[in-house]
Amino acid sequence: MNWRQERISAGGDGPGVTVHELDSGHDGPTVVVLGGVHGNEVGGIVGAGRLTTRPLGLRAGRLRVVPVTHEAAFEADSRTGPADGGNLARSFPGDEHGTPTQRLADLVARRLIRGADVLVDLHTSTPATDMPFFAGGLDDGGDAASTGVELAVAFGAGLVWTHGSLGPGRTLTLARDLGIPAIYVESPGGGVLDPALLDGYTGGVVNVLAHLGMVPQPATPPRPPALWLHGDGDTDSFTVAPAGGLFLPGVRLLDRVERGQAVGRVLDPRGRELAVVAAPESGHVATLQRFAAVAAGTPVVGVAPARPASLGLPSDRIHARAVAR
Ligand SMILES: [Zn+2]
Repeated sequence: MNWRQERISAGGDGPGVTVHELDSGHDGPTVVVLGGVHGNEVGGIVGAGRLTTRPLGLRAGRLRVVPVTHEAAFEADSRTGPADGGNLARSFPGDEHGTPTQRLADLVARRLIRGADVLVDLHTSTPATDMPFFAGGLDDGGDAASTGVELAVAFGAGLVWTHGSLGPGRTLTLARDLGIPAIYVESPGGGVLDPALLDGYTGGVVNVLAHLGMVPQPATPPRPPALWLHGDGDTDSFTVAPAGGLFLPGVRLLDRVERGQAVGRVLDPRGRELAVVAAPESGHVATLQRFAAVAAGTPVVGVAPARPASLGLPSDRIHARAVAR
């Protein structure tokens, strides 16, 4: 059993991707792993790419890995497509007659995501804004989402961030519409490779495969998340810089903060305070601006609340539904 490579493209001079496939030859799920949906998110790219040089001992199903999903953005070391400015992670389900990025989304949607039983989309934070290492996904109470939440836990990042809803255009939004369990992953230090995080990405996918019974062993022993956040992760939970200047954070990622607490300041070049940045709600710091130079209106701190126990564990909900049937 060896990895095979296949080039798929939108036709003509349209965009394409290289798919690496490992097929166990036995029944089982098809797991699709995408890196580089944002072209400069190198941790997810190499974290996915390293899978394709390993035998993995796959004993059920098949694994399809695309290390670099948005090739044009990757070649330009850019989050988005250089020709059209398109953000692939806001372009699904795509348009076969649209811009290059929309055509790429259509290709990935039709040839990869539609055939998947599980989708894993590996991102990183941007260089300007940090996020902690976590696996996240939709938790709207449905069966596919509940399975996705279990996979986010199985990934083993130590932190899980679930969302009650998803914004339009994402790979996970298409997966939701197709009833496919899906997770995404983020990590700090965008634009930089870190050996421990690379192991976290590659090992996390192996952990998911082990949870699905596709490989004999997880990369790391299963453990419950040390912290579980739940919130939309959208811009309403971000505080923006009230004034332009130089942002000085007063908190670190995952610090517990209370609504209204000062979490940073905007300074002038002499270090004088131009504005105070307050936490938008109580919870944990989930995104934090790294680059000091900010304009008025730049989102600088995002806070996500801890997951309420009343939501229950997905395994309990699946069990309760099975009993009720
Ligand atoms: Zn991304």
